[in-house]
Amino acid sequence: MPHSFTPIASIGEFGLIDRIAEIVPDPLEDKRILCGIGDDAAVFRASPGRLQVMTTDTMIEGVHFDRALTPMAYLGGKSITVSVSDIVAMNARPALATIAIGIPRNMSVEMVEALYEGIGEACTTYGLKLVGGDTSSSHALYITITMIGEAADDSIIFRQGAREGDVLCVTGDLGGAYAGLQVLLDQRRAMDELGKEFEPDLEAHRRVIDQQLTPAARLDFLDVLSEMSIRPSSMIDISDGLASEVHHICSSSDKGATIRVTSLPIDPLTRAVADQFMDDVDTYVFYGGEDYELLFTVYLEEGERLVESGQVAIIGEILESSKGVQALSPDAGLIPLHPAGFDHFGDSFSENGV
Ligand code: ADP
Ligand code: MG
Repeated sequence: MPHSFTPIASIGEFGLIDRIAEIVPDPLEDKRILCGIGDDAAVFRASPGRLQVMTTDTMIEGVHFDRALTPMAYLGGKSITVSVSDIVAMNARPALATIAIGIPRNMSVEMVEALYEGIGEACTTYGLKLVGGDTSSSHALYITITMIGEAADDSIIFRQGAREGDVLCVTGDLGGAYAGLQVLLDQRRAMDELGKEFEPDLEAHRRVIDQQLTPAARLDFLDVLSEMSIRPSSMIDISDGLASEVHHICSSSDKGATIRVTSLPIDPLTRAVADQFMDDVDTYVFYGGEDYELLFTVYLEEGERLVESGQVAIIGEILESSKGVQALSPDAGLIPLHPAGFDHFGDSFSENGV
């Protein structure tokens, strides 16, 4: 038995994963495995010319979601989206999923059915099949999804591979999911205070609430890339916040980067919500997470073509690793960009861990 007690917070979620990776046998000893721990999904050569990718994600009540704020069907759909997003971040397409759920006693058959209606609808949207799972009782609702996707041998895109001089691009707009969460938490506070007199006021904030409750994985964007014959040198999905994901690309690729704060794509409603709560909207983008957009690196000329087609924003540039990861802001100049996105054990930005 080990005698020391090192708090997990002292090494954080990613430090813990590094320790785990050192304990288990190196998966790359098996030559069929192209990628083990450390990317959005593991990669396995199933047969010559054909790759499979595999990912697992858990959503736990009270950690990743609050049942009072999350309709069951939305929760089901979002849990599928989270895994599809990791498959898409490898430039692969989802094929199969299994789902393990733990159900607390205060849930009804109808609630589980609604959860699975959301799951079924998302499976149809993304063209994948649910092929099994596991059911147990639990103190809090949890959903664990394991998903397998497919890709041609030469099409996988890793976090590693960013080249000096590449531009950093993102799809969609950022920070909306976190803005939506702030609106929902505020409404709940008002409900707790006003009791019966409370009337929910959600319509004005519908877009950011949808970004929080019903995000979409960017499977559609893989077609844009292939139609334009553009192959990013590295790619990741934005689940923990832009700062964390830029750091993942840079550390995997052994590079540095500068992000131009004025180039971040932020919807006016996201800005309005940040203003309403007297927050700095850039922190929503850097540390909020759950956008499920894609962050990737391409040659400047490719980035410009994607911008012209209205599909992405160029937000920065890849530099040599000694430059570190920095944000260029009009007020503060160049400042180091801290990696902390949402860390399950660290000093997290997100209030309730969503
Ligand atoms: P994402 O946010 O893209 O889902 P994570 O940050 O959860 O990715 O995980 C990063 C990497 O670490 C992935 O390759 C994942 O498979 C691996 N990983 C996470 N937790 C564990 C664990 N408990 N044991 C082994 N590998 C893990
Ligand atoms: Mg990911």
